[in-house]
This record gives sequence, C-alpha cells and structure tokens, in this order.
Amino acid sequence: MAKHTPMIEQYLKIKADYKDAFLFFRLGDFYEMFYEDAIKAARELEITLTKRSNGKSDPIPMCGVPYHSADNYIKILIDKGYKVAICEQVEDPKKAKGVVKREVIQLITPGTVMDKNMLKDGENNYIAGLTHFEDGSFCIAYNDLTTGENRLALISDGFEGVIHELYNQPIKEIVIPSSLPESFQHELRSRLHVTLSYQDEAAFHGEYHHLVEKLNDKRFITGFSRLLNYIQHTQKRSLEHLKPAEVIELKNYLSLDMYSKRNLELTETMLKNKKRGSLLWVLDETVTAMGARLLKKWIERPLLNKEQIEQRLDIVEALYEHFMERDAIRETLKSVYDLERLAGRVAFGNVNARDLIQLKISLKKIPELRNTLQQLEKQSLEQIIDDLTYPEEVVDILEKSIAEDPPISITEGGIIKDGFNEQLDKYRDALKNGRKWIQELERKEKEETGIKSLKIGYNKVFGYYIEVTKPNLPLIPEGRYVRKQTLTNAERFITPELKEQETLILEAEEKSVDLEYELFTEIREFVKRYIPELQHLAEVVSKIDCLQSFATVSEANNYLRPRFVENRLEIKNGRHPVVEKVMENGNFVPNDITLDEEKNILLITGPNMSGKSTYMRQLALTVIMGQIGCFVPCEKAELTIFDQIFTRIGAADDLVSGQSTFMVEMLETNHALTNATERSLILLDEIGRGTSTYDGMALAQAVVEYIHDHIRAKTLFSTHYHELTVLENTLPRLKNVHVRAEEYEGNVIFLHQVKEGAADKSYGIHVAKLANMPASLIERANEILEKLEQTNDGKKDPGEEGSPEEAEQLSFFKDEEKQDAPSKNSPVIQELLKINLLELTPLEAMNELYRLQKKA
Ligand code: ADP
Repeated sequence: MAKHTPMIEQYLKIKADYKDAFLFFRLGDFYEMFYEDAIKAARELEITLTKRSNGKSDPIPMCGVPYHSADNYIKILIDKGYKVAICEQVEDPKKAKGVVKREVIQLITPGTVMDKNMLKDGENNYIAGLTHFEDGSFCIAYNDLTTGENRLALISDGFEGVIHELYNQPIKEIVIPSSLPESFQHELRSRLHVTLSYQDEAAFHGEYHHLVEKLNDKRFITGFSRLLNYIQHTQKRSLEHLKPAEVIELKNYLSLDMYSKRNLELTETMLKNKKRGSLLWVLDETVTAMGARLLKKWIERPLLNKEQIEQRLDIVEALYEHFMERDAIRETLKSVYDLERLAGRVAFGNVNARDLIQLKISLKKIPELRNTLQQLEKQSLEQIIDDLTYPEEVVDILEKSIAEDPPISITEGGIIKDGFNEQLDKYRDALKNGRKWIQELERKEKEETGIKSLKIGYNKVFGYYIEVTKPNLPLIPEGRYVRKQTLTNAERFITPELKEQETLILEAEEKSVDLEYELFTEIREFVKRYIPELQHLAEVVSKIDCLQSFATVSEANNYLRPRFVENRLEIKNGRHPVVEKVMENGNFVPNDITLDEEKNILLITGPNMSGKSTYMRQLALTVIMGQIGCFVPCEKAELTIFDQIFTRIGAADDLVSGQSTFMVEMLETNHALTNATERSLILLDEIGRGTSTYDGMALAQAVVEYIHDHIRAKTLFSTHYHELTVLENTLPRLKNVHVRAEEYEGNVIFLHQVKEGAADKSYGIHVAKLANMPASLIERANEILEKLEQTNDGKKDPGEEGSPEEAEQLSFFKDEEKQDAPSKNSPVIQELLKINLLELTPLEAMNELYRLQKKA
C-alpha cells in the first residue's frame, strides 16, 4: 500500500468524517483542499489546480484559498448548495510534536450559515427537519439559526401534505433520517431544490430541556431533536439564542396548498420567481429587515380567527388615520437594526463592536417608538406598548464601554472607550507618554544636531529609528547614534534610550489590545444574558413594522377596511392589487362580486384575454389580504372567513417533475376536490383545456356538478366551453357571469367588465388578429368557423340561449340518455369495466385511456 506523508494521513482521517463536504484544511495562511475536493473546488471556484508531493506516493491534486478571503469562496460553494467543513490547527505549531493537531471546528451548510454576507436581510434562512412516523404522519421542524426561531408542524395527510407545507418557504436544507423512503427523498430534491442532509440520531439531549418543555406530543420531540442534533453536530458552539420550539397549529391558519401559493403569486411571481409582481411586493412597505421577514410569514399564513384578524385591523386603522404619527413611527423604525439577527450573532459569538453599537442605537430608539404609539391613545395598541420594553442595562453598559465608531476587527484595539477600565487607561497613558517622549526626542535631536530634516519613524522590522538624509550625515556628532539600516538617500539610527522607550510602548500597546479583547468578550457575555428580552423586543418591533406597512399601502392604494360576516361575500368595485399597481395609469376596471348560500358557484365565460383569471385571482388576493389583517382594494367589502383556498389557474407546467400540463391540472383539481369544505374557496380556470374537446368538457362539467352537489364550497369556474353555461338551468346554486367584450369594426375591444349571464362569443379569432397573425390566416380561420357552425345543424352557439335541449347534448353522464352511449358489449367498454381503478397510478390510468382511445 502506498505510504502517505503524516499530514496527508491526518487529512484523510478527518476527511473520512466529512465525506459530503469540502474540507478546508488549514495550512499556514491558506485553506487547502486535496484529491477530489481539490478537483471539484478548482472547477467551482475557478482557481488553479496544483499538485502536492506526497512522500513516496504519487503527487496529489491540491488547490487552496487564502485564509483572509476564504469567506468569499465559502459563499460561492454554499450558494451552490455545497457544505464546507472548516478544519483548523488547534495547537500552537511551535509547540507541536510532529504534525500540528487539527480539528473541524464548524461545518457550514446552506441551512446554517451565519455570515452576514451570505444572508438576505429580508428573508429567513431556514433549515428544516423532517421525520416520518409509523402511523404515516410527519413532523416538520423549522429552525432559523440566525434568528433563533424554532417552529414545528405535524402533517397527517401524507407526504403530499409535507410538500405543500414546505413549498415556497426559504428553506435551504432539509435534515432527514436515512430511512426516509427514497421516493420521498427524490421528491424533496426535485420539487424543493434543497440540500438534503442526514441525521439518524434523534434522541433528545437534556441540555435543551427548556426548548421542548411545552411540547406535549412525542413526535414533536423526536422531530425537533433530530434537527437540533444536526445543528449541534455541525456548529459545535453556543446555541443559547435558540427560542423554545413553537407549534404551528396548521388548522388555525388559512390553508394554501402549493398550487395556490404559486398560482396566486403571493411572495414571488410564477415565471421568474421575482418579488416584483407578487402580492408581497405590493404590501411590503416595511422598513426593518425583521419586519420584512415577518410580513412574508403573515402572507403565507393568513388567519382564521376573527378576533385576531380584527385586532390587526384595529391597529392598521389607527395607523391609517393618524398618518403623522405613522410617518414618525416609520422614521424611528428606520434607525432600528436587525435586532433578531444581532441577538443571534451575540449568542453565536460572531458580533463585532460595530454590531454592538447598532444594538445600542436600536434600543435607544424604543422609548421614542413607545411615545409615538402612546400619542395615538388607542386601546388596540395597549398590548403592543406594554410589550415594548428593552433591557436598559444593555444600553448603559454599551454607552459606557464601546467606542462610537469602532473598527470592524475586534482584535486590534480601538473599540473600548476611555474611562471604562482603569487598567486600560493606564496602558493608554503609558502609550501616550511614550509617544510624547518620542516627539520630544525628535525636537531635541533636531535642535542639538542642527539637522532640520531629521525625523523619527517606525516600522515593524526595526521598530523606532532616527532617520537622517545622506547630505546631513556629517553633521551627526561622533558616537551619538548607532547605525541600523542604510537606504539610498538616508541612514537610519537608534539609541539605547529610544529602544528602551520602544519596549515600553510596544508592551503597553500589546497589553492594551489584549485587554480590550478581553473586555469586549465580557461585554458580549453580559449582553448574551439579555437575549430572550432582545428577541421578544424584536418580535414586537417586527409586528409594528408589518402593521404600519399595511396602513401605509392601504392609504397609498385606497384600500378599505373589510367587514367580516357569516357565509356571505360581497365586494363592490373590487380591484386586483397587483395588476392595478402594474398598470399605474388608473385604467384598471373594477368589478363586483357576490357569493352566498343561494349562489355559491359562478361560471365565468368570456373571450381569452378578457380578464377572467384576473377576476378570479383578485378575489383570492382580497380574501387573503383581509385574513392577514390588511385593508382590501375595493369600495365595499363584506368578507367571510375561508378555511382553505384552492386554485387551478393558468399554465402551471410542472416541468421539474416531468408531468404533463393535463396531469398537473388533474392533480391540482383532485387536490381541491378531496380537501375542500363548505367554507373553502375554489378557483378553477379553464379546467379540461389540456385534453380533447369532449373529454375536457365532460370533465369540466363533472367537476362543477361535484362541487355543487357534494362540496358546496364557494367557487369561481371559468371556461371557454360555452356549452357549460346551460348548467345554470339544472344547478340551482350556479350562476353565469361573463366578462364583456365588444366587437368594433371587426376588432374586439376588451371592456374587462364582469356582467351577469353568459358570454355570446369566444372571439378567439379576434385575439389571434390582435396578436398580428397573417391576414390570410385569419381569413381562413373565419371560413372554417363558418363551416363548423353550419355543420352544427345551423344551431346557434349553445351558450347564447342555454336551452334545456342543448344541455342534453352534453349530458352523456346521465343515465336517461343511454341511446347515445356505446353498447355495453363493445370490446372497449368490456376492457374499461375490467380495470381496477384502485390499483392504477394516475399515470397508468392516462396510458390506459390512451390505449383504449386508440382502439375505439
Ligand atoms: P383571461 O383569463 O380571460 O384570458 P386575463 O385575466 O389573463 O384574461 O387578463 C388578460 C389581461 O387583461 C391582463 O393581463 C390584464 O392586463 C388585463 N385585465 C384583466 N382584467 C382587467 C381589468 N379589470 N381592468 C383592466 N385590465 C384588465
């Protein structure tokens, strides 16, 4: 076997424990990587790959990054989803016998970064833990190491529920047991694009008892412990800022499945994943990073409890009305730094003096904030005002100790104020005196030698020296100085007294820097004791920030406070908050909507591009805005509290998982049908479009009927199958509405107005014309249309009239119309009847259908 050098032996031994990470192996001023790590890192970081000799064996691939700029390289790797193990020398090389001892001191992973440069201010950085249990339930644990937040959720509706919950959250990494089924692991990887990490040990460690003492379900403790063990194992340092785990009772929040989160573009747009164009973009007038993070959470989890919603609305109303105070609050908040993350870094031990100054400035703003809120004299604000307390001791000590404009480094002095520590003042005096002595010496030597250009300088190698230019050298009295260094134009000298003074100065300097560091650590430890208070304060401040943001946008965009009523919904002149904002010119056409017990399904027809899906989305967004406690875009709003929103809107090709548009459409629809209740809102846009006309129409009708008869959820259903409008005659709680468009000189004009009744034409060809298709093509399409209309026995577009006879034409599901149905003896039907639906996966069903269709 080839023999390695002792250092490489050591490397290999450590690397064996960190196989899935880049091992940054400290060698002097560099972090080096070897073997496969080196080859991969050279490629990912675009740095040079070299070789290192390895005793009697072949040279090995090597590359390295300088210690002082390592952060940039680590960031690149982490952003790409990799992990980096930092391996340091843990003993003084001078004292080491043989190879210097090295250890991994931290494993940096995408979910556990703490470095400011690697984090987005207004976004959480979650690491999640996922644990499955025998009864089919799952525990999801969330942790944000930067803020100390810990939250837990229990999912009992299968793995699909896990994906719905995790989807669209800022999760960078998921910790799972290796026993999690491979198919689930694959789903996590492909649908959520996260790094997966493994942690099998999920036993609870007593030292974190306070974090779990409120948890009453064993599954929470297991789920949380797995994540905690992983964090501890990777970070190897103080986690004192972690907050007790909080259970998210999913049933207390409006449930939005992943399709809705995506389709409704709540926090990012569907196509480009940008914030601009999302609801968050419209509602975000927060001025602190913590407020921005909370707002995102609020939008993703609207409330169900009327009292809680009204509490938020009361405050928003107060701030809406009192705009002067609101402006003052915004100004004050602008000087409040990210308390949550500051507290996290204090605990983690990576704060510098500048961070502590930011902490002080922020805390000093709290009384001002309290005062302004008090001026409003609102009962709704009392709780918040009471909660706005902060540890004054922290401000006191920071005021006395930390210099106002300290350097970034905490090891080079200049961070502690004069007068804070007697010993430090003494060192500083000694330094000052020493420096004065040197100035005095310079003056004296100039005078006595008569050399005007004589000066005293300092450098790291020679210390203090007296410098005399060449032409002046003859003026120096014999034996006065000792020659030390010759330059081209000058000579440098020393004297014994100068050296003596130098020793004193350097000693005082070294001691004072050491003492400053020590004092800084003590102050940090002192602040650490107040972390829970700081975290609580951060929560209150973020809440105020979110509420003022709602008030600010509500005023700016002319929103109105909604009233909540039972089982009824009426919106007058409602607008789409995002579309109206993007249009900016005030051209958005407002529309009404009413839904109640007698009328809970609206079947929306109208040409493409007329505004059907905008109208549907607008309702969902209004509902969400109301349930997060924000005012809503309309002139009258009576809303009812919905428990869930389901959507199937627009082209949502699930490219990643390789499913067809039609399949996604069916999955989304099915998800709604199986989970919706009477209190849910369902939005279905153009169901059945992804398949042949009759298939699609049949499916669409069946879906509407099913919702009408079995679910009774409030539903908006848009379709371009005008044939479906006759359903109004048979389904009592369904009403037709249409989006108006008019024809003018052969062109279609979209009025974007929603009116009662069904639309009369589809205007598809007009839209093609709008899209500048060739004139000859348009002409040909008109010809074909005419022919088709004729072969329809000259019948009118069924949507126009909606007579019962035409309804029959579509009702091939119903038993009475057997005459048109294929005979039971047909081979296709025989085969169809033999299929055991319960044994087929959706995909197999699709294939089977396809096969049968070919046969028929
Ligand atoms: P459909 O779903 O009927 O195909 P969309 O809802 O996608 O149509 O709307 C098409 C375009 O019409 C949108 O991009 C939007 O700019 C515009 N639009 C929709 N509704 C309105 C409205 N109420 N006022 C003004 N413009 C609208």
